[in-house]
Amino acid sequence: MLRAACLCVLWASFIHGFPVTKERQKLLLISFDGFRWDYDLDVDTPNLDQMAKEGVKAQYVTPPYITVTSPTHFTLLTGRYVENHGVIHNMWFNTTTKEKKGYYQTQFVNEWWDNGTLPIWITAERQGLRAGSLHFPGTASSYQGQVPTVREVEPNYYDYKNETLWHENTDKVMGWFRDQNLDFVSLYFGEPDGTGHRYGPDSQERKDMVKQVDRTVGYIRDSAEKHGLTERLNIIITADHGMTTIYRSAQLEEITLSKIPGFNFSDVSFHLLDYGPTGMMLPNPGKLEAVYKALKGAHPHLHVYKKEEMPEHLHFTKNDRILPIILWTDPGYVLNGYFPVQFNKGEHGFDNQEMDMKPFFRAVGPAFRRNLLVGPFETVNIYPLMCHILGIQPDVNDGHLNATQHMLVEAVEPLVINQSLL
Ligand SMILES: [Zn+2]
Repeated sequence: MLRAACLCVLWASFIHGFPVTKERQKLLLISFDGFRWDYDLDVDTPNLDQMAKEGVKAQYVTPPYITVTSPTHFTLLTGRYVENHGVIHNMWFNTTTKEKKGYYQTQFVNEWWDNGTLPIWITAERQGLRAGSLHFPGTASSYQGQVPTVREVEPNYYDYKNETLWHENTDKVMGWFRDQNLDFVSLYFGEPDGTGHRYGPDSQERKDMVKQVDRTVGYIRDSAEKHGLTERLNIIITADHGMTTIYRSAQLEEITLSKIPGFNFSDVSFHLLDYGPTGMMLPNPGKLEAVYKALKGAHPHLHVYKKEEMPEHLHFTKNDRILPIILWTDPGYVLNGYFPVQFNKGEHGFDNQEMDMKPFFRAVGPAFRRNLLVGPFETVNIYPLMCHILGIQPDVNDGHLNATQHMLVEAVEPLVINQSLL
């Protein structure tokens, strides 16, 4: 408890040589699912523009591979690459029983999430802070028996496009900060991902949804002001991945594994396919080489790797949950198993070096410099930035404060507390 008590007075700065203690700063992390880095370029976004003027805008950020929702969100919360935090897919699966659970059901498989790496909520609470989460992926799970002080899990069949609900959720979170004195909250909105999938990232529907996001950004900042939080609250707005247009079948040769000569599904004991551009396979004993050789080079837009030979930049090797063969397609294509069953106009899950997979990043508040445009960085670096702002010791992570500290104003550099100084 002594440690917690000391941390409560961590914030200090010097004015004319005299130390001035400050209240600890608060932090709200917001994800708008699937908001690609360039979605503000073809839509009028006055509130995002205003936020950039008053804070920091990154050109884009690079998510970890695999560029799908639960793995990339868990990277935001932990600062770890996917192979290190273990939430390697949206879907929980068991290669022995062949069971699979979808994205929503997997939110409630505790051991899928709680597998050794702590999200920032728990780390913050262990150091005396109060954390909350609303609808953020991973919120339903406990971690080593702990949950944040306040949490609200997204209901099943949630109307994730509803702007009125977005406003209600915003006011609820601001109330948590003010009335329950939370220090950190993560807040999730399920758009513009849904619209990007259904209508494609170039559609008018996606542009309209970006306008809704922009109006909500204005609402969020107004709500912070109304709740008396503006002076102490930092807001980071980002996303988990981008979105790219899927070509229509008339324009291309589809990638359907059952049609590849020499490849037999009977050689595979378990697979995750028909999930956008990505796939993983567990070949039967003794069949790995045969499966690999049949698939490698079978289509000019299909990438096939043995787990241990994966390109290093993807950081998708060192985890027992990752299956021995990993497949993904180039942008524009999806990966089909027996026959085409995917008809989305937009998809994500591709190589994280593809520009269409990059999300946006904005930040505003007392910790951040104003009117600053910064270059790209990886989203693993957001975690150490958040820990720094909150004045907590980060857990082991793959990010570096060096990647983001140029965004910060000097006055909020936390000092190691020295009671004799105060
Ligand atoms: Zn997503």
